[in-house]
Amino acid sequence: MAVNLLDFDADGLTAWFAQQGEKPFRARQVLHWVHQFGQDRFAAMTDIAKSLREKLEQTAAVAPPPLISDRMSEDGTHKFLFDVGGGNAVESVFIPEDDRGTLCISTQAGCALDCAFCSTGKQGFNRNLTTAEIIGQLWQANRALGAKPKEDRAISNVVLMGMGEPLANFDNVVHALRLMLDDHAYGLSRRRVTVSTSGIVPAIDRLRDTVPVALAVSLHAPDDALRDELVPLNRKYPLAELMAACRRYLEKSPRDFITFEYVMIDGVNDSDAHARALLQLTRTVPCKFNLIPFNPFPRSNFKRSASERIRRFQEILLDAGLVATVRKTRGDDIDAACGQLAGQVKDKSRRVVTLARRSSEAAA
Ligand code: SAH
Ligand code: SF4
Repeated sequence: MAVNLLDFDADGLTAWFAQQGEKPFRARQVLHWVHQFGQDRFAAMTDIAKSLREKLEQTAAVAPPPLISDRMSEDGTHKFLFDVGGGNAVESVFIPEDDRGTLCISTQAGCALDCAFCSTGKQGFNRNLTTAEIIGQLWQANRALGAKPKEDRAISNVVLMGMGEPLANFDNVVHALRLMLDDHAYGLSRRRVTVSTSGIVPAIDRLRDTVPVALAVSLHAPDDALRDELVPLNRKYPLAELMAACRRYLEKSPRDFITFEYVMIDGVNDSDAHARALLQLTRTVPCKFNLIPFNPFPRSNFKRSASERIRRFQEILLDAGLVATVRKTRGDDIDAACGQLAGQVKDKSRRVVTLARRSSEAAA
């Protein structure tokens, strides 16, 4: 079976080329073609010797997960749905803003951590995505948004905040992160790549020592009793340990703060007292807060906090001198908002931009 070159970061590709008796600079050239130009056909890689191109045709492929659909919201948000085989699909969301374009990608089909308010958690865990399936979302989205030279690319930021817990799929996520940062691949700065975690403490330390990128931590509660209910992983890694891990992370982080995500759920975690307790909890961690109005999904038992409540909660954090933003709900009309990514192959699209199954030519 052909080797999928999207499974390799730069070192992996160089090692594989060496096994084939090829020089490291050849691996670099291929890396350029594949990731910078979005090329999946070896025949088109014109500065590579014909004999090598022919050899690659026989032994290798550039095989991202096939794009099933690309739906665009009224507000310009795109939701991409990818087929990852076995009846599973995963989603990425592209969010254009004035000064940047952010792609939110998935790292697992489903999630084992079962947070009480999360649609992905409710569907259970299916499997880890491979490196090719993780980086393949970026590869495909880049292409769908019109593969352009780096400086004109639509995607300037990547957040691992889609389906799944990135740090529970550590090795594949690390390979994909390295490709995002590699100047011969996507060349994104560490500050523009964010991993979001529900708080797997030992893996936060490993990330710090392996590829420190910006870190977002899903907090959602100021005390262990409530967090145990909302984020069951808290029973294993309680808040005091999580805060200590955040402080250690900052020693090597490309940003000098941790982003705390906090889903605002009506009557559950959104009182003034919760806000004040949060200030207490995080006082030793330089941080910013991102308040996420809860996004409902079928069969969810929670309600979104009223906007006045969210505003008041935000005010308490701001008054204490913290940065606290409220996440704008984007892509509401296409179920592309946080926590709504379920990966079901369903067709209730309002505006279908393309509905193309692009089975990779190279994989054929
Ligand atoms: N597993 C990682 C990353 C994926 S979830 C994590 O938990 O951090 C990305 C963000 O969406 C997390 O902050 C998560 O708590 C939030 N989220 C999950 N379900 C949500 C919902 N229904 N409404 C709003 N945000 C939600
Ligand atoms: Fe998993 Fe994150 Fe959803 Fe929790 S919020 S179930 S960790 S994807």
